[in-house]
Amino acid sequence: MGLNKQSGNMYPFVTHTWNPIRGRCPHQCCYCYMKRFRVGKLRLEEKELSSDLGSSNFIFVGSSTDMWAADVPSEWIRKILEHTSKYNNTYLFQTKYPIRFLEFIRSFNQDCILGTTLETNRNYDLSIAPLPIERWMQFKLLNDYKVRMMVSIEPIMDFDLENFLYMLRKIKPEFISIGADSKKNDLIEPSSKKIKELIYHLKGFTKVIVKKNLNRLLQ
Ligand code: SF4
Repeated sequence: MGLNKQSGNMYPFVTHTWNPIRGRCPHQCCYCYMKRFRVGKLRLEEKELSSDLGSSNFIFVGSSTDMWAADVPSEWIRKILEHTSKYNNTYLFQTKYPIRFLEFIRSFNQDCILGTTLETNRNYDLSIAPLPIERWMQFKLLNDYKVRMMVSIEPIMDFDLENFLYMLRKIKPEFISIGADSKKNDLIEPSSKKIKELIYHLKGFTKVIVKKNLNRLLQ
């Protein structure tokens, strides 16, 4: 399968996605777009490790399942990182279990951006991944290392402005991407006014990327 060109609701800054690990994501988020597909059990597709990843691409590695989840064997991740390091690209690695990044911290150079998802500061019982507050505590540990960091607020859910801003500021992310639920999952969403206020304050300390699918909530 190799590289897939960016399409649909993917981040606008990403040129490609690459999914060497496939199968049922252990985190089981209620809003996951992959829920519609029969994906089988979690596995490393060894043949992907001979994919040509090209050069000067911005590749989201592991967009269809969380390749940093606790159930993913370290050996699979090591093989993937070895392969990405052979090509001159920028790589986005994103997870809801960010403490796993620490295991591989020496493998990340300035071509790698590490991300986590914080849909909100609240606990809405959306999945069996660590809660947003736990992700935040784990992700913050990366501040002790010289790594590039981003946060995805997607699908954005109703939040407490001051608490959420405090959490996001503490991470010191290079940028924050904000998007909304695009699959009618009936989530508890914030008002347009509240989102605009959040964006205004975020711009005071980081770059903000607003995804097209947020427009529905900004009317
Ligand atoms: S972590 Fe990502 S891939 Fe995994 S279930 Fe949640 S939304 Fe889907």
